[in-house]
Amino acid sequence: MKWLVRLGVVALLLVAAYWFEVLDGGVPSTSTYKTDIAGWRQLVAGDSGQLPTEVRIEFIGRDTMPFIAVQGGGENKDFARTRASFQLDGAAGSVVIDTAFNKEIAAKAQRVPFAFDEAAYARMISVMGVASVVAVTHEHMDHIGGVMSFPLPERLAERLVFTKQQFEGFASASKQQIPPAYAAMPHLDLTAPTRIAPGVVMIPAPGHTPGSALFYVRMADGHELLFIGDVAWAISNIRTPAMRPRFVEQFFMSGEDRAAVGDEVRALHDLSAADPALVIIPAHDEAYLRQLIAQGLLKEHFQIDGP
Ligand SMILES: [Zn+2]
Repeated sequence: MKWLVRLGVVALLLVAAYWFEVLDGGVPSTSTYKTDIAGWRQLVAGDSGQLPTEVRIEFIGRDTMPFIAVQGGGENKDFARTRASFQLDGAAGSVVIDTAFNKEIAAKAQRVPFAFDEAAYARMISVMGVASVVAVTHEHMDHIGGVMSFPLPERLAERLVFTKQQFEGFASASKQQIPPAYAAMPHLDLTAPTRIAPGVVMIPAPGHTPGSALFYVRMADGHELLFIGDVAWAISNIRTPAMRPRFVEQFFMSGEDRAAVGDEVRALHDLSAADPALVIIPAHDEAYLRQLIAQGLLKEHFQIDGP
């Protein structure tokens, strides 16, 4: 009988390990992460007349990954993961948020089979050339790649918001060479919500990476958006709420602060429940982003206007 008990113990341990690594996406019931939307609104209260009038998107790269790797305990189905870039357009010019990556890096980083839209990437680079501000949600290559391979770094550096946290996070985690212009430019020490353009507030959200940030955007028509980068990959993470499973953090990423991300997912879930009109925008959830296009909240393809 002894062997039967041992077998039972081993089976229980395996079940527990599977739950811990794959099924558990639990977030804390309360959060210490502050989402002070009243404070963000205050920072852009004087911007009327200068607020963005439309939000545009380019779907640059795309592959699929199992949804069980996106959300702990999630359904066994495919998740369409896009590499997108966003353009806020209005009287004050364009603000570009996130810049995907170029074809060479996409070919290395995306899962096979993948898609890459060269025309979309080219439109993004053109808009980056005239945008008043370019900023990224964090320093991973699928967000900062377009910045790193921009043809004239010294011209972009004048309009780039590169935080101290993103610069240091990129320098310590990436083997990529940083163009000298980005090393020499002033880096914003993002320790509190900061207005970076009319209607746009950048909010520190370290966890996924040291330099992770959210962008609160107030539109001229009164809509409010919150770009959350990779705090969560799918809108379902926020709605459930449930975070990435541990095995993804352990085997496919390095250095994610799980406790901090859990706090942020909880806080964003609670904020969204309290303020359902706020449009939460995760960076990679293609199906959801296409729903936002269908609802008229986003428009596909960037628009190039003069500086
Ligand atoms: Zn990403």
